[in-house]
Amino acid sequence: MSISDSDRQFDRHHIWHPYTALREPLPTYPVTRAEGVRLYLEDGRALVDGMSSWWAAIHGYNHPALNGAVTGQLAKMSHVMFGGITHEPAIRLCQALVAMTPAPLDKVFLADSGSISVEVALKMAVQYWQGRGKPEKCRYLTPRRGYHGDTFGAMAVTDPDSGMHWMFKGLLPGHLFMPMPQAPFDGDASADLAVAEQYFAEHHHSLAAVILEPVVQGAGGMRIYSPDYVKGLRALCDRYQVLLILDEIATGFGRTGKLFAMEWAGICPDILCLGKALTGGYMTLAATLTTQEVADGISDSPAGCFMHGPTFMGNPLACAVACQSLALLSENRWQAQVAAIEAQLKAQLLPLAKAESVAAVRVLGAIGVVEMKDPVDMARLQARFVELGVWIRPFGRLIYVMPPYLITPDDLTRLTSAIKAVV
Ligand SMILES: *Cc1c(COP(=O)(O)O)cnc(C)c1O
Repeated sequence: MSISDSDRQFDRHHIWHPYTALREPLPTYPVTRAEGVRLYLEDGRALVDGMSSWWAAIHGYNHPALNGAVTGQLAKMSHVMFGGITHEPAIRLCQALVAMTPAPLDKVFLADSGSISVEVALKMAVQYWQGRGKPEKCRYLTPRRGYHGDTFGAMAVTDPDSGMHWMFKGLLPGHLFMPMPQAPFDGDASADLAVAEQYFAEHHHSLAAVILEPVVQGAGGMRIYSPDYVKGLRALCDRYQVLLILDEIATGFGRTGKLFAMEWAGICPDILCLGKALTGGYMTLAATLTTQEVADGISDSPAGCFMHGPTFMGNPLACAVACQSLALLSENRWQAQVAAIEAQLKAQLLPLAKAESVAAVRVLGAIGVVEMKDPVDMARLQARFVELGVWIRPFGRLIYVMPPYLITPDDLTRLTSAIKAVV
């Protein structure tokens, strides 16, 4: 089987890809298989993967242990409803998640995607305050330039200007946006926190929760900021009685050099969202973790139970492969791998900051970002990267990589050389 010209035409005119138009769509590249850090195109060319399929494929593609987890589970049961039924893959996965996150986070909701885990977190916060007799606490506060997903609740806490607010105006509830933190990773966040405190002081009576991506803002701009800001927000949440939701869908599972980015700040949220790398990039699955206190509040709410339960909740195939992905992480090779990637990205990308066309270069853990002064021509740049034998997908003014952790120094050099070539 192969993809014919008419198949390609069908793809162009009948199938939406992420954020595309079906009129004059940008080209898509047929991939027939993937192995380790390589994607193989139909014409036989191999591309070194710089994206981990959007933060997800941390162990690389076609991994024997992950394959084995899926096929092993497949032979037993691929899916069964989670209402009134439980199964070992879900229990084992939730045990592992509870064990690897801070102690207070010991309740787990398995969601079907990152956006849904954010919806679940937002609903948990509102039901919690209903259970505590404060139903007026039903709005959210969030820094600008955040990204929390594409569904309505998640869109409503995603940056109103760079996000999708204007086109869905009238449908999105008005939440509160505060300026994004300016302090860099090792900078002083006190000025940012003073700004944030004004929002808490003025609005805490109506606030259910603050939501943000700790330390690294992903799809909203690939910005890296001071962990002290996250720590300071935790203190403000405590002082003003507001829940803290951390969205670690992108940053979780080692990407920033810590298992979770919240560890840079040394704090624990009331609600934590995980996704993307949870299954090692094999299947869609996400999780929302919370505390005894929040779970009790939800139980005390008028509804008496948490009001969410998707059809494919706790899918056994996804849970089984997630367990295996976490087992691979627990072997702890990721720490040395991510540290080596960080050192190499710093050595090879930071010098690009001097280039005429470059606004800034940022590196943290296995994340390297080159921010250009002007928006890039995505189709042209994408084609050029493919010619150079790499898969890097830029957006806006950003050219960035977050490769699978097992990438070799030579393959990483191919990624950074390709970036150097286009810059
Ligand atoms: C990708 C992402 C989401 C949304 O996850 P989906 O699985 O695409 O729904 C939410 N928050 C952050 C920080 C993300 O990076």
